[in-house]
Amino acid sequence: MIAANFEYESPSELQEALALISSRPEAKPLAGGHSLLPAMKLRLASPGLLVDLGRIRGLDYIRQVGERIHIGAMTTHAEIAGSSLLRAASPLLLQAASEIGDVQVRNRGTIGGSLAHADPAADYPAAILALDAEIVAMSTRGERQIRARDFFTGLFTTALQPDELITEVRIPVTTPAGTSYKKFAHPASGFAVVGVAAVVRTKGSNIESAAIGVTGVAPSAYRAVAVEQALKGQPASAISNAVEHAADGIEAMGDYFASAEYRSHLAKVFTRRALEEAEAASRSRRK
Ligand code: FAD
Repeated sequence: MIAANFEYESPSELQEALALISSRPEAKPLAGGHSLLPAMKLRLASPGLLVDLGRIRGLDYIRQVGERIHIGAMTTHAEIAGSSLLRAASPLLLQAASEIGDVQVRNRGTIGGSLAHADPAADYPAAILALDAEIVAMSTRGERQIRARDFFTGLFTTALQPDELITEVRIPVTTPAGTSYKKFAHPASGFAVVGVAAVVRTKGSNIESAAIGVTGVAPSAYRAVAVEQALKGQPASAISNAVEHAADGIEAMGDYFASAEYRSHLAKVFTRRALEEAEAASRSRRK
């Protein structure tokens, strides 16, 4: 398949990119191209102007700022999966990045592109939600921060305005809390049929708090709030009952591979696995 004709710009400055994107309604940023280019070839997207972000310096970093870690939008999945800073201070995003696609996809795909694309089967959204991350969006009108729980608004849709670029993602330091990402990958595409990210804090022998993000089940990723509430102050033995609520209030998607009922079932199974691993990691860190 061949994409429809388009113009191409490759600015070296962020401000230039923002001006180009705001100049035409049919302009679209290009990051790793691993979602946008296939969509263009299938004619599911036909942007009149592609604004390549690849030459802009300073959008590719992972650094700690106080109790938060700032990640530039053009940071690749491979850089996140290999980050020693994330491994030590906030490993959940790294755990999710390691599960994305294959080596080629991880070497080209970026966190900004993945979040902006908001594929219902993408891995990062579960982790971004469980981490209560902030997404920094910039346009010629200025900068704003969007909370993760306000960012994903539906199937392939986000709170971003058409002229806004994601420039940074901010996540908290989570250690000594335990984290885990567990995924049931589609055997053909590798995308998440279900993916569950968990951050668990323990106090003594009980769970002080749990934050759980679920991807793949619904049109957009969600927090399993009922499970989180059921676990507050409870021992780890409460996990098996609490996970029964992993798809509460959710209209699960179904397709020829996994029915809505099967996806809801997998949400419970993978929520339990992620919680058990995160809880054990938290306890062993506190020893
Ligand atoms: P692009 O494809 O360049 O852009 C995607 C969209 O985001 C476009 O609409 C673009 O305009 C917009 N965009 C890009 N950057 C920005 C920005 N900074 N601000 C605002 N908008 C922006 N993903 C998973 O999560 N899990 C998987 O298992 C998985 N498997 C894959 C397997 C294959 C074979 C392929 C091809 C892809 C797979 N992906 C998977 C998707 C992959 O992670 C993509 O890289 C990612 O979804 C998009 O990132 P990108 O940098 O390539 O963005």
